Amino acid sequence: MTLSGKTAIVTGSNSGIGLGAVEELARAGADVVLNSFTDDAQDHALAERIAKEHGVKARYIQADMSKPEDCRALIGKAGACDILVNNAGIQFVSPIEDFPTDKWNAIIAINLSSAFHTTAAALPMMRKAGWGRVVNIASAHGLTASPFKSAYIAAKHGVVGLSKTVALETAGQGITCNAICPGYVLTPLVEAQIPDQMKAHNMDRETVIREVMLERQPSRQFATTAEIGGTVVFLCSSAADQITGTTISVDGGWTAM
Ligand code: NAD
Repeated sequence: MTLSGKTAIVTGSNSGIGLGAVEELARAGADVVLNSFTDDAQDHALAERIAKEHGVKARYIQADMSKPEDCRALIGKAGACDILVNNAGIQFVSPIEDFPTDKWNAIIAINLSSAFHTTAAALPMMRKAGWGRVVNIASAHGLTASPFKSAYIAAKHGVVGLSKTVALETAGQGITCNAICPGYVLTPLVEAQIPDQMKAHNMDRETVIREVMLERQPSRQFATTAEIGGTVVFLCSSAADQITGTTISVDGGWTAM
């Protein structure tokens, strides 16, 4: 399929799932805007590499998704937004009574509120064009819970609810809004959890991956960033014109249990 002529903005896309979404959108012909809170030479080099590899326009725009004004400015600076992928996210794990308030606030801001601000800024452009796609990267934890991830799970359930509301407010306008709910995908965010889990369970890396991390993922296989990116591209295709206000799980069977 071709998304040639469309501009896609992917928040939090200098790594992991966001970068996977950028790669697949660019492969499908979309011009892409990469984002994170950093502004390093390597961020801009990444955009250059993607432009060259896929023959599309690619830019890196710095914006901190914990700040409402930055979220809205990202859309303004991009100048066009046909496809918005709200992907930026962080994680923190702690029992609720010890959960630091600043971590709660940061997770709600980056994982949930940023999607509210970017979507509000992007919808006028999509309505003007008569076409648009909002794809929110939620999680299996947007549909189910696990202990010690109160802020993340609250934020991801919130993202699912926000997706349904945006779908209703845009229904029949050529715009769709959905949430993708990945199970475990091997990215830096997940990689960073492995040493703590090894310590907590007194297990080696392979055992922790198989017995602890993928315990709820019946396939016992990580999903890949390309698979999540491919699902984003599918939601941007005409086959998905009537798919709106729903969730698509890419979780190896996690939520079937
Ligand atoms: P990652 O750490 O590789 O990527 C997170 C991205 O968000 C990075 O590009 C980072 O720079 C960016 N980011 C963090 N804080 C930001 C901020 N304040 N402003 C702008 N950008 C910021 O992690 P990932 O696993 O690729 O996660 C991406 C999304 O996928 C998250 O929303 C996460 O919750 C979700 N998710 C991940 C998994 C998984 O198993 N990896 C599963 C389900 C959902």
